Amino acid sequence: ADLSDLIAAGIRDIPDFPKPGVTFKDITPLLATPEALRAVVSAVAEQYGTDGVDAVVGLEARGFILATPIALELGAGFIPVRKAGKLPARTLRESYDLEYGTATVEMHADAITPGSRVLIVDDVLATGGTGRAAVELVRRAGGTVVGFSVLMELAFLQGRDQLTDVDVHALTVV
Ligand code: IMP
Repeated sequence: ADLSDLIAAGIRDIPDFPKPGVTFKDITPLLATPEALRAVVSAVAEQYGTDGVDAVVGLEARGFILATPIALELGAGFIPVRKAGKLPARTLRESYDLEYGTATVEMHADAITPGSRVLIVDDVLATGGTGRAAVELVRRAGGTVVGFSVLMELAFLQGRDQLTDVDVHALTVV
């Protein structure tokens, strides 16, 4: 099976989650399928394999799962970006607007060596708020954002419009 078939087979729609009217893309079947998991990790590592990536930032929580094997394959380290209040040492924080209210994400202030080349990884690009905040954190810490890679982009939410200054790479677009 080719990559897009494996992804299509591994991501299911869950209606009315986490709230009525929202259809959630659930990637857990893909994670549980060895061939699909291997294919997505290899595809992202290949895409960025010649870009001299020093560190892979994963976005809590599903981004962690994907970012770590991608980092290993690229010979890079892993850095977590987490929801507010989870990281123990001094952090940089970024807040962004949600439909109702705001969300805040954090990264350890010393996580990135200034000048290092950073790939950001998450499972789904929706409105782009999380990705935008992660890009700002990496740049404030002195890193260069080599790209933002996701398994799936929900194009109707126009998240890319918030990331026009970043190389956004989606394995599938719906
Ligand atoms: P955004 O900030 O609106 O782009 O939302 C992206 C964040 O929310 C990512 O960290 C995703 O993991 C999560 N997310 C939003 N929609 C979905 C979905 O349908 N499936 C899985 N994760 C989602």
